[in-house]
Amino acid sequence: MGAWWAGLRARSLAEELERRLPGRVYTDPAVASLYAREPSGLEGRPPAAVVLAREPGDVSLTLRLAYKFEVPVYLQGSLSSLSGSAVPLDEGIVISFEKMSRVREFSPVDGYVEAEAGVRLGELNSLLAREGYMFPVDPASVAVATVGGAVNSGAGGLRGAKYGTMRDWVLGLEAVLPDKRGSVIRVGCRVVKCRQGYDLTRLIVGSEGTLAAVTAAVLRLARLPRRVVVAAAFFPELEGLAAAVAEVKAAGYEPLIMEFMDAPTVAKAVEYVRPGFEAAGHMLLVAVEAADCEAVEVLERLSRLLSSHGASRVYTAPSMREAEPLIKLRRAMYPSQVRLALEEKGPGTLVYVEDIAVPPSRLVEAVRGVRSLAESYGFEVLLGGHVGDGNLHPIVAFDPRNPGEAGRAEQLFREIMRLAVKLGGTVSAEHGIGVLKREGLRMELEALGSLRALELMKQLKRVFDPKGILNPHKVVW
Ligand SMILES: Cc1cc2nc3c(=O)[nH]c(=O)nc-3n(C[C@H](O)[C@H](O)[C@H](O)COP(=O)(O)OP(=O)(O)OC[C@H]3O[C@@H](n4cnc5c(N)ncnc54)[C@H](O)[C@@H]3O)c2cc1C
Repeated sequence: MGAWWAGLRARSLAEELERRLPGRVYTDPAVASLYAREPSGLEGRPPAAVVLAREPGDVSLTLRLAYKFEVPVYLQGSLSSLSGSAVPLDEGIVISFEKMSRVREFSPVDGYVEAEAGVRLGELNSLLAREGYMFPVDPASVAVATVGGAVNSGAGGLRGAKYGTMRDWVLGLEAVLPDKRGSVIRVGCRVVKCRQGYDLTRLIVGSEGTLAAVTAAVLRLARLPRRVVVAAAFFPELEGLAAAVAEVKAAGYEPLIMEFMDAPTVAKAVEYVRPGFEAAGHMLLVAVEAADCEAVEVLERLSRLLSSHGASRVYTAPSMREAEPLIKLRRAMYPSQVRLALEEKGPGTLVYVEDIAVPPSRLVEAVRGVRSLAESYGFEVLLGGHVGDGNLHPIVAFDPRNPGEAGRAEQLFREIMRLAVKLGGTVSAEHGIGVLKREGLRMELEALGSLRALELMKQLKRVFDPKGILNPHKVVW
């Protein structure tokens, strides 16, 4: 009865929205089903309506009515989340920001750009590059990831070792609250130094669409690096690679990119991309900025450093363009696991990307630990990540229709999270908690003796969203 009433309310709201926002609301089930599935294969409930918002007023109206009808609302950019944070779990309304894609203001003097939620990070960077700037947070999904999605998932990416995550680059936000009035708030500043009471901007960053609907963000800018040189080394021993990571950092290179894949993963990636050069062993990819006049010398020094830790092969490239074959090999990690999964297990297979982080000094223990866990649960795991900041992405494929296999996979993910916490790390570095890591969040806070923090999070959720209509069942449900 409860679900029946909830469905009826959602469909009534959908009709009301169709009337009030003509041409901006889609209720066709075929369209709605496109907004119910994440790339991992995780599937939710098709919404009763998809609102393609064009301005903050559309978002405000939708949230005001959703409050009145008590209907869940799910906020989406490109739906590329990997944690189950963007899929609708109940019948409700999706607000998609894909049509809110204006860059409102670009101020190089003040060092910021203001962009609407639906601007894709890749497009933003193409625009900024023309002026010699960049927005440095670059998830591997940069071609599709939107400003709103990246802000709310607290995204990181390949340049995380040097530039951190969204948390470090958002100056201010325009957002709509799920309250009686659909209130629009503006928090944060257009200046780097900003003490505006409690930091609501940072609270909303990474809140996974559970606190407020972000309609625009003021983002800090970075200058485009003048020149980037790249070295890729292949190590027979993990210990050698880990020592090289430590020394590259200690030597003050401040790598822009520091990526890793372990030897079995390199072998799969080679099979997938056939790179045309010899690649075997544990791979470390390092990109550093260098002035034109010192590029050759920096590469030589880097190359010597990597070899001194036992790298059996080191390739160097004097620019990002020339490094493309090396970078392509690293990027092949996810697609090669997807292909493997489809070949071996057939369609319907889920490919989950884990997202733990450990202090970089615990890398060897983490890699060995994940491999041994995967073996004991009988799974092939591909393992790599953004090693400069200790973020590892074990990738595991499993068949959710096979209850035994799904159960073992769930247990494996739980154990991997437990390992990360034991090593002083975290269960999620950049993908967020979503639905997949709620238990992990509890586990992590419990290990810190801080379950009270979880209670505070639940209270904050109620302050922002008194009726619990925004992305329910996610993060701290
Ligand atoms: C191949 C692949 C590689 C990836 N690599 C990385 C990586 O390197 N680093 C990384 O961090 N992530 C990565 N991701 C995950 C994901 O792409 C990023 O987190 C991305 O920033 C999400 O953007 P999106 O627009 O698709 O957001 P969505 O998936 O649509 O949404 C993400 C979250 O934000 C919320 N949200 C979306 N828009 C709004 C809004 N306007 N207001 C409030 N809440 C909103 C959603 O409800 C959801 O909780 C990868 C994903 C894939 C498929």
